[in-house]
Amino acid sequence: MEFDTFTISFESLKLGEHDYKFLVDTTFFSGLEYSEIQEGKVIIDGQLIKSTRLMELNLDFKGEVVLPCDLCGENYTQTISFKESVVIKFGDEQDQDEGMIILKRGESEVNMSHYIYESIILSLPIRRVHPEVKGKPSCDEAILAKLNDKGNQNDDDIDPRWSALKKLK
Ligand SMILES: [Zn+2]
Repeated sequence: MEFDTFTISFESLKLGEHDYKFLVDTTFFSGLEYSEIQEGKVIIDGQLIKSTRLMELNLDFKGEVVLPCDLCGENYTQTISFKESVVIKFGDEQDQDEGMIILKRGESEVNMSHYIYESIILSLPIRRVHPEVKGKPSCDEAILAKLNDKGNQNDDDIDPRWSALKKLK
């Protein structure tokens, strides 16, 4: 499969629709210093509609990224599947709004990599855990048990007789 670069040169584009295909993969994430995702593969189908005053870019994200699980700390695979639209137009920076990219006059290309990265980050669920199986996150039971053990040891709520024994040590 061939993919487009993240830089769209729009000056010479004809009015109307243009198709793009972008690939976000492990190389992409590791190339971004600020990336909290390190691994994954997401394919983005883009459709750019150029009109005289502005451009609209419709993006369709599909793939998966690897994230650490909030519960057990092990990596799990998070499915990515969402659509998004962004308007690209010339103007002043204070016109900046959600779902909009403002370009300075005279610019002839726009780099979409940061926007695409941010969109993926914003699409992630707040609760990042292994996918649920029968209503329970499918974490490795052994790791969870270990974590629970640690939790219990720090518990202040131990039997007073044990506390007395501990003092004797
Ligand atoms: Zn987990």
